[in-house]
Amino acid sequence: MKAMGPVPAGYTGSGGELLIGGHPASQWVGQAGATPLFVYDGAMLDARVARLRAAMPQRLAIHYAVKANPFGPVLERMASLVDGFDIASGGELSLATAAGMPAAKISFAGPGKDDGEIEAAIVQGATLNLESVREFERALSIGERTGVRPRLAVRVNPDFDLKGSGMKMGGGAKPFGIDAAHVPNLVRRIVDSGAQWRGFHIFAGSQALSADAVIEMQTQTVALAVRLAEKAGAELAHCNLGGGFGIPYFPGDEPLDIAAVGDALGETLEALPAAYAKTEFAIELGRWLVGQAGVYLTRVLDVKDSHGETFVVVDGGLHHQLAASGNFGTVVRRNYPVAVANRFGDEPSGEPQSIVGRLCTPIDRLAEKVALPIMQEGDLVAVFCAGAYGASASPAMFLGHGPAREILV
Ligand SMILES: *Cc1c(COP(=O)(O)O)cnc(C)c1O
Repeated sequence: MKAMGPVPAGYTGSGGELLIGGHPASQWVGQAGATPLFVYDGAMLDARVARLRAAMPQRLAIHYAVKANPFGPVLERMASLVDGFDIASGGELSLATAAGMPAAKISFAGPGKDDGEIEAAIVQGATLNLESVREFERALSIGERTGVRPRLAVRVNPDFDLKGSGMKMGGGAKPFGIDAAHVPNLVRRIVDSGAQWRGFHIFAGSQALSADAVIEMQTQTVALAVRLAEKAGAELAHCNLGGGFGIPYFPGDEPLDIAAVGDALGETLEALPAAYAKTEFAIELGRWLVGQAGVYLTRVLDVKDSHGETFVVVDGGLHHQLAASGNFGTVVRRNYPVAVANRFGDEPSGEPQSIVGRLCTPIDRLAEKVALPIMQEGDLVAVFCAGAYGASASPAMFLGHGPAREILV
């Protein structure tokens, strides 16, 4: 038997069925028409943002990183809840504005922006987080050509990273941002060019569960921003401190203590010199905001035995939930929290069962040797923590089964 990650708080059962948004999972499948299905709980999104705001300093702006979940209805809900969106492509720019987020509250990071994307961002009034000096020069000439003053921030590749982070995005040689040493010169060029100077974007990593690690990163990030602004002799009106807040996926994972993070950040910002009293600081989060609000539902098609191991074959798989299969940036495969939605709360059997997707590849495993009630054809399997990096971060074209359905409830 292998352990599973913890089922996120807030999921309960009634009459043996998992409830999502107060209604049985099977009801949502009926409404959507079929499995596989992602169900996103809108009330959980509301509650999550409210909890974060309560924990963070009042002056801190909360941004949503669209790539975590770009489903239209989710974006519309998030647009009504947060202070800005962070995007990473021209496609996400269209989705973000269609969801009702004003371009002035959108910032666009990502290496390799093409001219069309840069132009769309400038003309619509989104902020470009510059990832190279060359990108600055291209933005400037596109601004001149279109007659629109570009809003430009600099994405800094910091000299530190987020300790214990699932995915390192800063520290040392990286394709992201501009090495800190080259930043002051570029800032002076931006200010002199007449473009709108929009400050720094510093993102040092993702999926951290240790408050100490996040606090250390945020303290270093604020200090770096101040140091770079001073060196450049520029004002700092805006500063995006990145994100990195993780959620528990695996056995033994504990939730991040956001109260501790918020208190420490409050102290850090309080201690800044008066020149930064009006700086608008922001954090940008994806998975922490939406990850636990999503459940992936998939139906059992077959149950079979091979050399004593029970394989439960479902109608979904890694083409929708790559991360749960262990193939999205994790080193060792471990089990996400999984349940049998129509036997929720039943005692697990003593028999280990492995839940596999329907793709012809041995890596398509949604759960390995887990303790769950005995499953049969027709049962409904729920994979939790499916709200972030699920549908949009999985190879839906692989093997031709097509994408999953998605609903916000
Ligand atoms: C992916 C990404 C995020 C969101 O990361 P999460 O782990 O989902 O919070 C934020 N900022 C940038 C620059 C990113 O690339």
